[in-house]
Amino acid sequence: MQKHSDFAEFTEITPSAPIDKARHGWRAKCLQRLIRIDLPVPRTVALPCDTVRAIAAGQMPDTARLIGLFGPEPLMSVRPSPEDPEWGGPGTVLNVGMNAARHAALTETHGAEAADALYLAFVQAYAIHVARLDPDMFAEAPGPGALRAALRAYEDETDTPFPEDPARQLSEVLRSMARAWEGTTARLLREAKGAPAEAALGLVVQDMVLAIAPGLSGSGAIQFVDSVTGAAMVSGRVHLQSLKGAGEKPGETLFLTKDPRGDSLEDRAPEVVEALIRHGAACRARLREEMRIEFALESGELWIIDATRTPRSSRAGVKIAVVLAEDGIISREDALLRVEPRALSELLHHQVDPRAPRDRVARGIAASPGAATGRIVFTSAAAQAAAARGEASILVRRETTPEDIRGMHAAHAVLTERGGMTSHAAVIARGLGLPCIVGASDIRIDLRERRLNAPNGRSFREGDVITVDGSNGEILAGAAEMLAPALDGGFRTLLDWADEVRDIGVRANADTPDDARTARDFAAEGIGLCRTEHMFFEEDRLTVMREMIFADTGPDRRVALERLLPMQRADFIALFDIMAGQPVCIRLFDPPLHEFLPHDREEMRELAEALDRPLSEVTRRVEALSEFNPMLGMRGVRLGITVPEIYDMQARAIFEATVEASRRGAPVVPEIMIPLVSAKREVELVKTRVDAVAAAVRNETGADFTYRLGVMVETPRAALRAGEIAQHAAFLSFGTNDLTQMTYGLSRDDAGRFMGTYVNQGVYSEDPFHILDIDGVGELLNIGAARGRAARDDLTLSVCGEHGGNPESIEFCRALGFDYVSCSPFRVPVARLAAAHFALRDRKQV
Ligand code: PEP
Ligand code: MG
Repeated sequence: MQKHSDFAEFTEITPSAPIDKARHGWRAKCLQRLIRIDLPVPRTVALPCDTVRAIAAGQMPDTARLIGLFGPEPLMSVRPSPEDPEWGGPGTVLNVGMNAARHAALTETHGAEAADALYLAFVQAYAIHVARLDPDMFAEAPGPGALRAALRAYEDETDTPFPEDPARQLSEVLRSMARAWEGTTARLLREAKGAPAEAALGLVVQDMVLAIAPGLSGSGAIQFVDSVTGAAMVSGRVHLQSLKGAGEKPGETLFLTKDPRGDSLEDRAPEVVEALIRHGAACRARLREEMRIEFALESGELWIIDATRTPRSSRAGVKIAVVLAEDGIISREDALLRVEPRALSELLHHQVDPRAPRDRVARGIAASPGAATGRIVFTSAAAQAAAARGEASILVRRETTPEDIRGMHAAHAVLTERGGMTSHAAVIARGLGLPCIVGASDIRIDLRERRLNAPNGRSFREGDVITVDGSNGEILAGAAEMLAPALDGGFRTLLDWADEVRDIGVRANADTPDDARTARDFAAEGIGLCRTEHMFFEEDRLTVMREMIFADTGPDRRVALERLLPMQRADFIALFDIMAGQPVCIRLFDPPLHEFLPHDREEMRELAEALDRPLSEVTRRVEALSEFNPMLGMRGVRLGITVPEIYDMQARAIFEATVEASRRGAPVVPEIMIPLVSAKREVELVKTRVDAVAAAVRNETGADFTYRLGVMVETPRAALRAGEIAQHAAFLSFGTNDLTQMTYGLSRDDAGRFMGTYVNQGVYSEDPFHILDIDGVGELLNIGAARGRAARDDLTLSVCGEHGGNPESIEFCRALGFDYVSCSPFRVPVARLAAAHFALRDRKQV
């Protein structure tokens, strides 16, 4: 019956018609697929993008001929069909072709109520979307007089009668949809979803199914998986609009399958539901996707009018991809490519339910994903006290410092007024998997009043409940509704498949046994960075640390360090045990000493007491150790060389732990990393001492072991001199946080203040602490890697800055031939999948 139309301006969709997604859009292509698998799709005509573009420019196709395809009394729907469904498009217009004559005929056959409702709906849609009249004037519900009132309002507003000619109606509908696509708002919206500037619109015109016919008539939608979990489940509704007296109640909404909550279509017409399920299975198998089907019933006859990809949460997206692959419908590679790596991080944390209302108070930089609700606390001590009471708290600080680490552990989320993507709060929160917002510059913390003041005069006291949404940077008042994390089988299966194809390693940055366990759980291939200083902020160790700092001589320092030694050894044994023979890269002490000093008078008094020294001496010593620019001062290897006892102690702890852990489990080959290197001689000096400690431990224990010594490339000079530095280093690991800071001369703790302005004005395309600056910092990576490898071809190369978990940096490091990236444990899954994507894309290009 259906004959292929030859009109180039529009094409009737038949199984063999030349319908092309790029030319006619996704909807036209999808409808053709449905037709090809013999689904009962009403007659449909596709208008290609060139035709729609011409329409927008005022050049109409032969509408009379187009309409002729729909018979003598056409009644049509017009739907948008851009190339990608995500790009949106103008709303569907239904019942084009309704006019007074058709209304009279329908009144005869279907009754006045149904005919009025249909005509009213069309007049309203036409008035609002085509004639662009005020929607408020056309909002009346169907009822006596509503149709007449709408027609009169149309006439009054436009000074013309409502158009009767279906060809003219269709022309106007097509024109308004074509123009709507060209509008600035529509353009901005689709470009935000990734549409190119030249994205075009196709349209489909379809015969309307008269869902108001006698008998079982109506319309509805069915889907076959749950949109939140992705689990197989038939759901949907049908809205019956059949006529009174025809055996059905009009306006009734039914479940599709049997349901304890109410009547179902299955009770009334099981054969229809059976057919829908059959059609769903055919779509899934042939379209290789989970589809949501829109259908209409006309006197019991089933029509499929449209099908779209089932809407899905990230979690459902993973499950659907994995099950499609397990069922042999798509390949594993396709399943991997169908999941956006960044979407995985949503699965690892609580999320604010996207369907729930949000009372937004302010926003900042989304520094660590996930969401949490709790009571506001302004100090770490209060966060710990809340945790001791079993209460969830949100730690709100101007910025955090290393002493806040315990408070951060105790809090459910962190919010800071200052800071950027690599400020202390951001880095630690990502490491802990804690939701975090930094740089929330429009909030003010009033510590004296213990208040958080937000824009628009809103103010919160300590103890008030807020929600931090670290996935999008929003601070919400009260407790938002949450979705729980979902690390189900699908997630793990997908990542196992990713591991089979990826060709760059993924390690985790892990400082504590908890971090290491998370790293293992996410299948990291070892620890790429263990920041040992975090081990010194525990209450008992901090005091010993301070004693060490206050010691005047090397021997005195050693006494304090000897007390720290067993603690460090125990730390490393725990890490080695958990990592069970996987590589563990331990960075020697890095931060400036002053971070360990007391900051206020009260703390100094306490320290004077603990040390049994006069307060004045403590104050003097603190002043002497303070630096103008501590990040560029005596930290990292500079401290290691100036106060060598610290690294000696750490090396001993590492080797003794190696002996102990290897004795009871898998053999350990520890990796020791020197931070903040800028000269070859620094490496030589440290290496000599570390080798000496290794020899001593071998002697004392009688155990043999090896270790790898490497350098953290964090200064531009280290990257430039990588050739000579590599002579003494088995590996180079690029610390891109400091390297970015030093390449730009931009403080990572203060950049948040102006980063927004800089990015908005296009000075930087992105925050370089967040997205690796390929042009500048990347060039240093390139130079460092090439010079290092040229000096030593067995050199291991990696990145361990925060960028390590970003797909863009992974792509770059992979292209440079790096061996692995290392990132916070909670970012490991994203990194594993992103790495697999790059490997698969390369394979496809070959
Ligand atoms: C770095 O600088 O990139 C790094 C990993 O070290 P940290 O963040 O501890 O300074
Ligand atoms: Mg660093």
